[in-house]
Amino acid sequence: MAIEEAHSEDLLLRYEHAINPGLARVFRFMGLESVEATGHGAILVDEAGEEYLDLAGGYGVMIHGYRHPRIIAAAHHQLERLGQSSRVLLNRPMVELAEALAQVTPGDLSYTFFCNSGAEAIEAALKLSRAATRRSRWISTDGAFHGKTMGALSVSGRRMYQAPFEPLVPGVTQVPFGDADRLAQVMDADVAAVIVEPIQGEGGIIVPPLDYLGRVRSLCDEAGALMIADEVQTGMGRTGRLFAVEHSGVVPDLLCLAKALGGGIMPIGAVVGRPAVWKVFEEQPLIHTSTFGGSPLATAVALEALRVTLDEKLPERSERLGTLALSALQALKDRYPDVLTDVRGRGLMIGMEFPSAGVAGALMTELFQRHVLAVYTLNNERVIRLIPPLVIGDAELGRALDEIQSAVASVAVYAKELEG
Ligand code: PLP
Repeated sequence: MAIEEAHSEDLLLRYEHAINPGLARVFRFMGLESVEATGHGAILVDEAGEEYLDLAGGYGVMIHGYRHPRIIAAAHHQLERLGQSSRVLLNRPMVELAEALAQVTPGDLSYTFFCNSGAEAIEAALKLSRAATRRSRWISTDGAFHGKTMGALSVSGRRMYQAPFEPLVPGVTQVPFGDADRLAQVMDADVAAVIVEPIQGEGGIIVPPLDYLGRVRSLCDEAGALMIADEVQTGMGRTGRLFAVEHSGVVPDLLCLAKALGGGIMPIGAVVGRPAVWKVFEEQPLIHTSTFGGSPLATAVALEALRVTLDEKLPERSERLGTLALSALQALKDRYPDVLTDVRGRGLMIGMEFPSAGVAGALMTELFQRHVLAVYTLNNERVIRLIPPLVIGDAELGRALDEIQSAVASVAVYAKELEG
C-alpha cells in the first residue's frame, strides 16, 4: 500500500481533516495561515520567506533561538553515533547530563530521572512523592498549569480542562497561589507534596510575594511533606537565573524541567531530586521508567544547550533585557491604562494583561499583522505573554517594543467595542 499525496494546497484544510478541526477553526479565525519553514535566532521564517519576530518562542522552548549552530552540531554529532539507547548497555550522554544538572541545580539536588515532556516530569515527581513519603495528598495552586496527562491535569488549576475527564486522581487540594497562610491551613501529616510553579506561567505570569517559596519550603519541612518546583517554563534561564527558585534561595525536593532543556530541538523532560527521595529507586530500580527517556540524542543535545546557556550568559541576558522591556511596557501601560491594565514578570517572562480575552486576542492579531508573534496564557486568556528566545538581539527587542506600542495604540481605538 502506498501513501497518497494530499491534493489541497491549503494546509489548514488538511489540519481540519487530519489533525484537529476545532483548532483549525481557531487558526483561521485568528488569520494564522502561514506555514513555518525555518528559523534563526528569534526569527521564524514561513514557506513564503516572510519573517516573524517570535516573542512566543515555541511556548518557552526556544531559549537558545531557532537552530542554534552549536546545538545543531551536537545533534548531528550524536546522530552519527546513536540516537536511541539500547537500554541494555550503559548510556554515557545521559550520565553526563545528569552530572551537569546536579552541578548547576541548587543545594543537594543530585539525581535525575529523564522523560520526554513537561507533563511526564510532573507525573514522575507526583509518583515519587507518594512513594517516598507513603502519603497520599497533594496540594497545588489555583490557576496552576502542570500539563495534561491525568496526574498533571489533576493538580492543575483550570476546571475547563479537567471537567470532561473526571474522575481525576484523588487526593488533591487547591489553594490560592502566593498565599502561604492559606497553604498552612490545609497542611497535615497526609500531605505527600506541595507542587508549585515559582512564577505561574499559564496562569497569567503571576509573580508571588518574595517570601512565598521560602514559606512553602518551611511549611513542607514542618509537615514532613516534599516540595515540588515545576520549572518546566521558568527553568533554564528564562527568569534571569538558571532556575527561578534561586531568586528566593529555596531548594525544592524535586525540580521538574522540560521545554528549553532540549535546546529547541529535542523533546526532553527531567526531574532532579534530592538523595532522600531517590531511596525509592534503591528498593525498586524499575518502579518508574520511560523507554525513550534519556535517549543519547536528547541528552547530548541538552548538555550542549546547557553549555550554550552558561557560555552565552543567557540568564544574565534575560535579566537585563527583561528589566528594559518591563520598564518600557510599564510606561505603555501608563499611557493606555484602559487597554493595558497590568504588566508584570521577571526576566524575559513577561505578561501583559488586558481587560478581556477579546482585547487580548485583538492585540495578538495586530501583532501578527506586524509580523510579531505573541500568545496568550492557557489558563488566562486576558494575558499575552512575552517569552522570546533569550538570544533576541537588543535591536530586535527594541523593534518588538515599538510594534507592541503601535499595536496597543491601534487596539485602543476599538477596544471598547470588543468589550461591549
Ligand atoms: N508545567 C508547566 C509550568 C508548563 O508551563 C507546562 C507546559 O506549558 C507543563 C508543565 C507541561 O509541559 P508539556 O506540555 O511538555 O507536557
